[in-house]
Amino acid sequence: MKTVQVNDKKFSLYISENEIKEQVKKVAAGMNEELAGKKPLFLVVLNGAFMFAADLLREIDIPCEVSFVRVSSYEGTTTTGKVKQLIGLNENIEGRTLVIVEDIIDSGITMREMLRMLKEKNPADVRVASLFVKPGNLQVELDIHYRCFDIANDFIVGYGLDYDQEGRNLPDIYKILE
Ligand code: 5GP
Ligand code: MG
Repeated sequence: MKTVQVNDKKFSLYISENEIKEQVKKVAAGMNEELAGKKPLFLVVLNGAFMFAADLLREIDIPCEVSFVRVSSYEGTTTTGKVKQLIGLNENIEGRTLVIVEDIIDSGITMREMLRMLKEKNPADVRVASLFVKPGNLQVELDIHYRCFDIANDFIVGYGLDYDQEGRNLPDIYKILE
C-alpha cells in the first residue's frame, strides 16, 4: 500500500492520477455536448480546484471562457456568525451560462452560498461541476450537474486538495489513515 506523510498525518493511495484523468475526460465530453453554442464561463474555485480545472479545460473543445474566484469565510459582526463572500468575479455574468468548477462538495453549504450569490447577478444558467462529492455528508439540496467521483466521508488530500495547505501538489488522491 502506497502511503505518504503530509504534515503530521499519514495517508494511503486512494484514487490514481490515471483514474482521475479518465473520469475528467468523461465529464468534459458531457459538457462539450451539452454546452455547445452557449459559450460557457467556467468559474474555477481557488485554491482546491486548480488541478482539476487545468485537466478539465484541456478536454473542453467548445468556445468558452475561464475565470477564477475564491470563497472566503469571515466572522460576521452579527449573530449569524460565519458569512461567505465571493471574491474575484469581475465579469458581467448576466445572461451567461456558468459552470462552477469545485474540488469537493462535503456539506454542500459552500456551494449553496456560492449559487445564491451568483444567481443574484442573473446568469441564464448555473451548473455545478465537482471533482468529488461526499453524498453521506450533504446537508442541503443541491443540483450537481457534473461530478467525477462520489466518495465516502474520509478526509482526502492531493490533486489540488490540501491538508493544512500542504499536499496540493500530489498527482494522485490519498485518504487519511486513522
Ligand atoms: P462544504 O461547504 O461542502 O462542507 O465544504 C467544502 C469545502 O470543504 C471544500 O471546498 C474543501 O475546501 C473542504 N473539504 C471538504 N472535504 C474535504 C476533504 O476530504 N479534503 C480536503 N482537502 N478538503 C475538504
Ligand atoms: Mg473547494
